[in-house]
Amino acid sequence: MARVYNFSAGPSMLPEEVLKRAAEEMLEYGSSGQSVMEMSHRSKDYQAIIDAAEADLRDIMNIPDNYKVLFLQGGASTQFAMVPMNIMTGSGKADFIITGQWAKKAYKEAARYGAARAVASSEADTYSYIPKVTKDMIDPEADYVHICMNNTIYGTKYHALPEVGDVTLVADISSCILSEPIDVSKFGILYAGAQKNVAPAGLTIVIIREDLIGRAMDITPTMLNYQTHSEAGSMFNTPPCYCIYIAGLVFKWIKSIGGLEKMKEINERKAKLLYDFLDSSTLFRGTVRKEDRSLMNVPFVTGSEELDAKFVKAAAAAGFVNLKGHRSVGGMRASIYNAMPEEGVAALVQFMKKFEEENKNV
Ligand SMILES: *Cc1c(COP(=O)(O)O)cnc(C)c1O
Repeated sequence: MARVYNFSAGPSMLPEEVLKRAAEEMLEYGSSGQSVMEMSHRSKDYQAIIDAAEADLRDIMNIPDNYKVLFLQGGASTQFAMVPMNIMTGSGKADFIITGQWAKKAYKEAARYGAARAVASSEADTYSYIPKVTKDMIDPEADYVHICMNNTIYGTKYHALPEVGDVTLVADISSCILSEPIDVSKFGILYAGAQKNVAPAGLTIVIIREDLIGRAMDITPTMLNYQTHSEAGSMFNTPPCYCIYIAGLVFKWIKSIGGLEKMKEINERKAKLLYDFLDSSTLFRGTVRKEDRSLMNVPFVTGSEELDAKFVKAAAAAGFVNLKGHRSVGGMRASIYNAMPEEGVAALVQFMKKFEEENKNV
């Protein structure tokens, strides 16, 4: 068996330890005589799995007691509607900072339910930077300000939060959740599809301040009301049981490594390896403003579409897969989430050096 280094933006790599443990427990979980996939979600064994997952996530992220953790379905994309339906109910207004396709989708979806306003956008510059937003740009009456914390497609992230005054901040953290510590108390709602840094696709994690629950519009479907899931401990209906189990194993893996401070240290080392090479390379270069660079998604180009395609093909043949950039940007993108080992990034940089050497004079 030869596992490749998978640089996919999502679904993406899972820690090998987690996959091995899941394999060991595939046929029988504990002494239950069954796989987690086959278990009733109402069983004692399963309740212990979801309780441990929540407790470990609270511990790792240092989630305050006045926040609920919800394990939902529908992906981050469903949150684009769920957030406005649930909390765009005071003034009916919300402000959006448009830093990429996901941020824009959240804005467009919210505009179906209320007065959504784009306060700043970097679209004209292919989202290659995070626009500066100051307090005077924010509507103090807005029910919330929405940001996308890490822009998966373009490779930018917020290194400091925008100033929003007393307005509730909501963030899509799909592609940076658990990559470094985050001060949960600064946000009203944090949400993330699990398939980038947490688990297989199918699970959406929502962390919500309790006072934001119970304000939903009358038209809100029962399944899209945070209150429904909060009151039922994420068990109103069948939750994505197996994904939650894998997420629980990933949380334990992060704890075993030393938590999010340690994770950040490792991620910064990995990103630095790649960015330092891009900054010194005569063939490759990064595509975004340096001060806004993501730790998780690293887009780069050669400047020649032909050479980009040649690189992606050669890399795949050498065991570095899914390096093709998003169709809207072109070039390459290396997604180096938590589960990508440092050796994987180091090996990629070696491969890029060799490719540069061989294609210098082409
Ligand atoms: C992947 C991604 C999404 C979409 O997630 P789904 O779970 O597929 O709906 C939204 N936002 C960000 C930042 C992403 O990286």
